[in-house]
Amino acid sequence: MLTPYPSNIFKTEEALHYIKQTLESGNTSGDNTYTGLCHNFLKEHFGFPNVLLTTSCTHALEMTALLLDLQPGDEVILPAYTFVSTANAYLLRGAKLVFADSGKRNPNIAPAEIERLITPKTKAVVIVHYSGVACDMDRIMSSVQKHGIALIEDCAHAFDSYYKGKALGTFGTFSTFSFHSTKNITCGEGGALVINDPNYIRRACIIREKGTNRTEFFQQKVNKYDWQDIGSSYLMADVLAALLYSQLIHYKEIQQKRIAAWETYYNMLSELADKHFSLPQIPDYATNNANIFYFLCPNSAERTKLLDYLNSKGISASFHYLTLYKSPYFKQKYIGNELPNSVEISECIIRLPLVTNTGFTDVVHVCDMIKEYYKNV
Ligand SMILES: *Cc1c(COP(=O)(O)O)cnc(C)c1O
Repeated sequence: MLTPYPSNIFKTEEALHYIKQTLESGNTSGDNTYTGLCHNFLKEHFGFPNVLLTTSCTHALEMTALLLDLQPGDEVILPAYTFVSTANAYLLRGAKLVFADSGKRNPNIAPAEIERLITPKTKAVVIVHYSGVACDMDRIMSSVQKHGIALIEDCAHAFDSYYKGKALGTFGTFSTFSFHSTKNITCGEGGALVINDPNYIRRACIIREKGTNRTEFFQQKVNKYDWQDIGSSYLMADVLAALLYSQLIHYKEIQQKRIAAWETYYNMLSELADKHFSLPQIPDYATNNANIFYFLCPNSAERTKLLDYLNSKGISASFHYLTLYKSPYFKQKYIGNELPNSVEISECIIRLPLVTNTGFTDVVHVCDMIKEYYKNV
């Protein structure tokens, strides 16, 4: 059965070699050789001024909430159409979640929503570049800059993706990446915090190291380290960074494979799309990193029928996020407007199987099944 996410690890000769090296050196904990190599690689290839590997994107998001010193009553604007981690990070600090709608049949946050929702209590705006396709950054930057509000880019989908030629992750005060096994580049579980505002670097290192200045101790800036601030344990183990590095050095091949599968889906489904569903739009300012291949059915009933059909044929196509303001946890607490675009996307989306190892014949098979389905309806 084709699943959306079977092993997504790109087979490389280096992986076992690098892991073996960490085991033999005994330096398996955080901030050792491979963490340093990953930090430098990410800085050099994507123009990030400062990067810290973390245990996950969820934890990198939690770090942004700690770094911004969010207090109960502070407001954070975020898309309703996202993964729970984007919301939990701020809720854990007691901040008030202010959910924004998506664009019309476009999963990214609608820039006009940010303007609508900003109040004197707004401390941060969080955006998600859904499926690695950039949000409308010129409009978003002008809103946050006008009001002096921090911007966080949740780049969990957005590795090696660009807005007008500039890497996603370089726009926000902070941005967060995921190396979970569902993402383009993976080491099983992992993430990164990118810090674009240098004022936050020292405190980020302290928060990541349990509230201590252990990083400065390792850099031989101080001769002992001690408790300086609140914090937690957000370092990726170097043995995982070794696996991550074995993937990063091959990222161009990984992206090419994914983009080839994505484009095959797109081309093979184009003729059906005019009649039965809409394919994703990539604006001129954005690139496609093929994190997700999705399309939107006209309504929920048709989505469910097609999904059931594909699943019955052993193809694990799937839906995606349920808009967060209607989730079991949040629906009683929600006091804002209806957000119809996010609801429509929740109800109409289908994702097709796409991982780094998805081959051409897998894609053709899925497209043939979809064609077969529409012959009979
Ligand atoms: C995957 C994902 C996360 C969480 O990433 P982890 O590394 O698993 O913590 C956060 N936000 C979005 C949008 C995601 O897709």
